Amino acid sequence: MGRSQLDLTQLKEMVLHLCRAMQGSTEMLTQADKAIGDGDHGVGMARGFEAVRQKVEHQAFASVGDMFKTVGTALLTSVGGASGAVFGTWFRSGAARLGDRQVFDSAGLAMFLADGLQGVKERGKAQPGDKTMIDALEPAAQAAQQLPGADLDQALAAAVEAARLGVERTKDMVARVGKAQTLGERSLGHPDPGALSTYLILKSMLEYVAAQG
Ligand code: ADP
Ligand code: MG
Repeated sequence: MGRSQLDLTQLKEMVLHLCRAMQGSTEMLTQADKAIGDGDHGVGMARGFEAVRQKVEHQAFASVGDMFKTVGTALLTSVGGASGAVFGTWFRSGAARLGDRQVFDSAGLAMFLADGLQGVKERGKAQPGDKTMIDALEPAAQAAQQLPGADLDQALAAAVEAARLGVERTKDMVARVGKAQTLGERSLGHPDPGALSTYLILKSMLEYVAAQG
């Protein structure tokens, strides 16, 4: 197992690490959403990942897909706002092809990101370049797709770096969907909060995997 793939016990620990990391990022995400939105993104994500933690902590999971679907449903029903649907859909759609898998590896990561991206696009109708989380998730999905046989930590590292660059590029985008679109050109210079969350979610996954022996 280790850094090349995670078993279900490790996957659960990774999700609990993700919950702690997102709750620790509340202030950063609040500031990001205050700059171009209504300021609720940090509190929404903290509430969402608290709900995930409570749901996941004492439950047993039958497969990787079962785990990610549970995470998505908890987010969908607790975050509120646009991002509840968006991030809930990422995890729920991302779980689709992971249904019976007992290990999470780089091929599973590629499916989780590609199917999640597809689900978010279908549900929210945003396009790349609209200044949303898609601008971080799409490059991350492409990076993972290019490394299907790699160790999980290598594929995740590539996805994290692609998402980080995606967040940087959102600074040069004018928001075309969601609350930020009312700002028009004034959204320039600021990163998209949901893109930032996408990067932070992937970064926390990498932190957990990289710490495995
Ligand atoms: P709200 O906009 O309802 O206040 P949040 O502040 O929690 O919700 O989340 C805003 C983030 O949600 C944005 O930064 C963007 O990344 C994401 N988002 C909003 N609408 C969409 C959409 N249609 N598709 C993809 N992501 C979206
Ligand atoms: Mg908001």
